[in-house]
Amino acid sequence: MKLTFYGAAKEVTGSNFLLAVGKEKFLIDCGLRQGSNYSERHNWDPFPYNPKEISAVFITHPHVDHIGRLPKLYKDGFRGKVYSTFPAKEFAGLLLLDSEHVLMQDAEKYKKPPLYGIQEVEELMRIWQGVEYHQEISVGGVKATFYNAGHILGSSFIVVEAEGKKIVFSGDLGNSPAPIIGNREAVPDGIDYCVMEATYGNRVHEPQSERKGFLEDMIEDTVKTGGVLMIPAFAMERTQELLYELNELVEHGRIPRVPIFIDSPLAIKLTEVYKNYSQYFDVEARKVLKSGDAIFNFPGLKMTLTTEASKAINEVPPPKVVIAGAGMSNAGRILHHERRYLPDPKSTLLIVGYQAAGSLGRLLLDGAKDVKMFGETIPVRCQIKNATGYSAHADQPQLLEWVRPMRHSVRKLFLVHSEEDSSQILSQKIRDELAVNAVVPGVGDEVDL
Ligand code: ZN
Repeated sequence: MKLTFYGAAKEVTGSNFLLAVGKEKFLIDCGLRQGSNYSERHNWDPFPYNPKEISAVFITHPHVDHIGRLPKLYKDGFRGKVYSTFPAKEFAGLLLLDSEHVLMQDAEKYKKPPLYGIQEVEELMRIWQGVEYHQEISVGGVKATFYNAGHILGSSFIVVEAEGKKIVFSGDLGNSPAPIIGNREAVPDGIDYCVMEATYGNRVHEPQSERKGFLEDMIEDTVKTGGVLMIPAFAMERTQELLYELNELVEHGRIPRVPIFIDSPLAIKLTEVYKNYSQYFDVEARKVLKSGDAIFNFPGLKMTLTTEASKAINEVPPPKVVIAGAGMSNAGRILHHERRYLPDPKSTLLIVGYQAAGSLGRLLLDGAKDVKMFGETIPVRCQIKNATGYSAHADQPQLLEWVRPMRHSVRKLFLVHSEEDSSQILSQKIRDELAVNAVVPGVGDEVDL
């Protein structure tokens, strides 16, 4: 069989791997490229394979850089089946509809036709099948089993078995322990090949335990200075984690009373879906739920669904906290708040997620003195803080720990989903410490397994 790396190879976004077993072809993830204009333009490229020949797509998790091109795949003739966990399927439906709107703006920007329409999303959802963790499914000549990756609710790494060999696709591996979701699982025995993400292959995160304290300090400082705490957050997982931690801080009286806004219609909708999947929560979160506490709600919290409600946030005098999308400040309502408060020395922008190269969030994180938005130059005078403990990705020690159990069986390990320096450093480390043959494939590279 042959494995080809069509995306997230020496880059972080656009995950897309093709496994050809005999005459059958399978995809693992089919994501959008995000970040710079250069890479986003490639989303309109024709697929480098015939979508009509794909029997099935296995989805690790519903982040747009893993699912975003599925509707285009459908539009271009794919009529096989899509498989993911049940929550991943439901989140994917919402996220694809939401990005359709964002992509319309991109289409205008790049003078291209829309990548897909609502109809393709609806038709795609009809061929999408939910599976349980650890339930082995047979599709054509392969078997696939999903395991908890601990990255977001319902996220998976997938073990595909074909021609007597086992290949694991890590998807995105979580920074366990994280609130709400269970811990990342260990790989089963006998893995022959591994395709692993290396987003933070060269980094060690701050301990997760410190982040709630960090959030507490940020809010206290904001109240003291009378500024605005802006938190650009991914609508899925990061927002719910923040809500969960804020709920604890408020319920235990650890932060002063301050208005907290969730200013993202998508995040509000996704939070509703979370509530339907409490069986996927970890023991702690279920305990809090059982005690009768609504884990995503507390005094002072306001969810602003409509544009009018969002605009009304401006009338609320500081101090206040605004959590809004998009997570990399590349779109969404956070931009309106940033335009207003980036020039304010009393305010703070708190980064709690990965910022892709080329995104506005990355520029701010790298210390830009001014930024362009809405055709204006906005000076940056507020404080920029980075809470790395919030990462949803495993760091270098965690990635090594995940590889360790397969070190005797794995014949080759492919590092993907990272900027090149990070994957090169990690591949060296894996070769040195675990004696595993780790390589960094490029886009279009094909290997015989
Ligand atoms: Zn992800």
